[in-house]
Amino acid sequence: MAFFGPEMPLPAIGPDTRDFWEACREHRLVVQRCTGCQSFRFAPAPVCFECHSWDYENVESNGVGEVYTWTITHRAIHPAVAQAVPYNTVVVRLLDCGGAMITSNLVGVANEEIRPGMLVRVEWDEIDSDITLPRFRPL
Ligand SMILES: [Zn+2]
Repeated sequence: MAFFGPEMPLPAIGPDTRDFWEACREHRLVVQRCTGCQSFRFAPAPVCFECHSWDYENVESNGVGEVYTWTITHRAIHPAVAQAVPYNTVVVRLLDCGGAMITSNLVGVANEEIRPGMLVRVEWDEIDSDITLPRFRPL
């Protein structure tokens, strides 16, 4: 079952995010690593936040992380989330890839059972032929 309704706006694929979304379609979570200073960054961006280099590579994460923080949304501010409230939005700190943090949703756990440091693993929510979204499930 989809996390949100079919009216949910989808991410726009652009030049800076195309590699990420293509990897998601293949069920691979990739994080950019600057080839100048080796720092990781997420979300995908054209320039390194640390050294301003334009050169990077995509590193595949094993998709395991820990809940860094989260929020629970109780009020639907868009028709696509009307059936999903209350729903969680989490920030997951990947255990590899320099601890890069990714914003997503947790599935397979009640909102009141979410805890800081909870170990989670990515899974894939295939929305359409272009967009597959990473979600996370407790280990
Ligand atoms: Zn850099």
